[in-house]
Amino acid sequence: MIKFSLQCENGHEFESWFSDSEAFNAQSEKHLISCPLCTSTNIKKALMTPNISKKKSNKLSDFPAPELASKRREALALASQFVERIKKITDDVGDKFPEEARKIHYEEAPARPIWGTASPEEAKELIEEGIDVIPVPFSPKDQN
Ligand SMILES: [Zn+2]
Repeated sequence: MIKFSLQCENGHEFESWFSDSEAFNAQSEKHLISCPLCTSTNIKKALMTPNISKKKSNKLSDFPAPELASKRREALALASQFVERIKKITDDVGDKFPEEARKIHYEEAPARPIWGTASPEEAKELIEEGIDVIPVPFSPKDQN
């Protein structure tokens, strides 16, 4: 596994793990990698900052595997609570989200907070149209 520093077309930097450099190239070409901030799928490798310090750091990758697994479960539990709380205060419109968000924006439907799914491309279009959306970079079905 190799960790790459990535950058989207809007200049957001994030990190992601790949089995090798080829895997990154293939996924990037198919637009399978999306920016966690703006969901753009135009991703390139950011300039690598050399790690000068050899001191032991407290990065997640330094945790032994069992601890890492329990941290992962903890993170997923938090993510799940987060989603549940959002669901309580929003109207779940499922995959009609882009359609419904547009209707509300153009005052063709009652204004209310809604929750649902959109592809990265759809989310990007909504943001470009000036529609107020908050991308949540996971879905409860990712958990296992
Ligand atoms: Zn971005």
